Amino acid sequence: MPVLSAKQKEQVRTKIHEQISEAEKELVVLKEVTAAIAPDNSIGRISRMDAINNKSVNDAAYLNTRNRLKQLKNVIDKVDDEQFGACVRCGRPIAFERILIMPEKRICVTCSR
Ligand SMILES: [Zn+2]
Repeated sequence: MPVLSAKQKEQVRTKIHEQISEAEKELVVLKEVTAAIAPDNSIGRISRMDAINNKSVNDAAYLNTRNRLKQLKNVIDKVDDEQFGACVRCGRPIAFERILIMPEKRICVTCSR
Protein backbone atom coordinates (compact mmCIF):
# COMPACT_ATOMS: atom_id res chain seq x y z
CA MET A 1 0.00 0.00 0.00
CA PRO A 2 1.62 3.30 -1.04
CA VAL A 3 1.87 5.91 1.70
CA LEU A 4 0.46 8.68 -0.48
CA SER A 5 -2.37 8.59 -3.01
CA ALA A 6 -1.69 9.36 -6.66
CA LYS A 7 -3.44 12.70 -6.18
CA GLN A 8 -1.26 13.58 -3.21
CA LYS A 9 1.86 12.65 -5.16
CA GLU A 10 0.75 14.95 -7.93
CA GLN A 11 0.40 17.77 -5.38
CA VAL A 12 3.84 17.05 -3.99
CA ARG A 13 5.36 17.03 -7.46
CA THR A 14 3.81 20.42 -8.25
CA LYS A 15 5.17 21.81 -4.97
CA ILE A 16 8.64 20.48 -5.70
CA HIS A 17 8.66 22.13 -9.12
CA GLU A 18 7.49 25.43 -7.59
CA GLN A 19 10.17 25.29 -4.93
CA ILE A 20 12.86 24.44 -7.46
CA SER A 21 12.07 27.49 -9.57
CA GLU A 22 11.95 29.68 -6.44
CA ALA A 23 15.30 28.34 -5.29
CA GLU A 24 16.79 28.92 -8.73
CA LYS A 25 15.63 32.56 -8.74
CA GLU A 26 16.97 32.99 -5.22
CA LEU A 27 20.36 31.64 -6.27
CA VAL A 28 20.65 34.19 -9.07
CA VAL A 29 19.98 37.03 -6.60
CA LEU A 30 22.31 35.60 -3.96
CA LYS A 31 25.04 35.13 -6.52
CA GLU A 32 24.89 38.83 -7.35
CA VAL A 33 24.98 39.96 -3.73
CA THR A 34 27.81 37.58 -2.86
CA ALA A 35 30.01 38.92 -5.64
CA ALA A 36 33.40 39.93 -4.25
CA ILE A 37 33.56 43.23 -2.40
CA ALA A 38 35.86 45.50 -4.41
CA PRO A 39 38.78 46.77 -2.30
CA ASP A 40 38.48 50.26 -3.74
CA ASN A 41 34.92 50.65 -2.50
CA SER A 42 34.71 54.24 -1.35
CA ILE A 43 33.18 53.19 1.94
CA GLY A 44 34.46 53.69 5.45
CA ARG A 45 36.08 50.99 7.53
CA ILE A 46 32.87 50.30 9.49
CA SER A 47 30.69 50.02 6.38
CA ARG A 48 33.31 47.78 4.90
CA MET A 49 33.11 45.50 7.93
CA ASP A 50 29.34 45.50 7.52
CA ALA A 51 29.72 44.57 3.90
CA ILE A 52 32.01 41.68 4.84
CA ASN A 53 29.58 40.49 7.53
CA ASN A 54 26.70 40.66 5.09
CA LYS A 55 28.78 38.78 2.61
CA SER A 56 29.31 35.83 4.94
CA VAL A 57 25.59 35.77 5.75
CA ASN A 58 24.81 35.81 2.05
CA ASP A 59 27.46 33.20 1.29
CA ALA A 60 25.85 30.91 3.86
CA ALA A 61 22.41 31.56 2.37
CA TYR A 62 23.79 30.80 -1.07
CA LEU A 63 25.22 27.46 0.04
CA ASN A 64 22.00 26.56 1.87
CA THR A 65 19.84 27.33 -1.13
CA ARG A 66 22.20 25.49 -3.48
CA ASN A 67 22.05 22.44 -1.21
CA ARG A 68 18.30 22.59 -0.96
CA LEU A 69 18.00 22.86 -4.72
CA LYS A 70 20.10 19.71 -5.11
CA GLN A 71 17.90 17.88 -2.57
CA LEU A 72 14.71 19.05 -4.29
CA LYS A 73 15.96 17.80 -7.64
CA ASN A 74 16.88 14.46 -6.07
CA VAL A 75 13.55 13.99 -4.36
CA ILE A 76 11.54 14.34 -7.60
CA ASP A 77 12.59 10.83 -8.62
CA LYS A 78 11.60 9.49 -5.20
CA VAL A 79 7.99 10.68 -5.25
CA ASP A 80 6.97 7.59 -7.23
CA ASP A 81 8.38 5.21 -4.61
CA GLU A 82 5.80 3.24 -2.62
CA GLN A 83 7.47 4.40 0.55
CA PHE A 84 7.54 8.07 -0.32
CA GLY A 85 5.78 9.96 2.47
CA ALA A 86 6.99 7.59 5.15
CA CYS A 87 9.81 8.70 7.43
CA VAL A 88 13.08 7.14 6.25
CA ARG A 89 14.16 6.78 9.87
CA CYS A 90 11.14 5.46 11.79
CA GLY A 91 8.87 4.43 8.89
CA ARG A 92 5.83 6.32 10.17
CA PRO A 93 3.89 8.46 7.68
CA ILE A 94 5.06 12.08 7.58
CA ALA A 95 2.35 14.75 8.01
CA PHE A 96 1.21 15.69 4.52
CA GLU A 97 1.48 19.44 5.25
CA ARG A 98 5.11 18.91 6.20
CA ILE A 99 5.78 17.09 2.92
CA LEU A 100 4.26 20.00 1.00
CA ILE A 101 6.33 22.58 2.86
CA MET A 102 9.61 20.64 2.92
CA PRO A 103 9.35 17.88 0.32
CA GLU A 104 13.12 17.40 0.38
CA LYS A 105 13.06 16.33 4.04
CA ARG A 106 12.42 12.62 4.19
CA ILE A 107 12.11 12.38 7.96
CA CYS A 108 9.19 13.13 10.28
CA VAL A 109 9.02 15.94 12.83
CA THR A 110 9.80 13.59 15.71
CA CYS A 111 12.93 12.20 14.09
CA SER A 112 14.17 15.62 12.99
CA ARG A 113 14.30 16.84 16.61
ZN1 LIG B 1 10.44 9.46 11.93
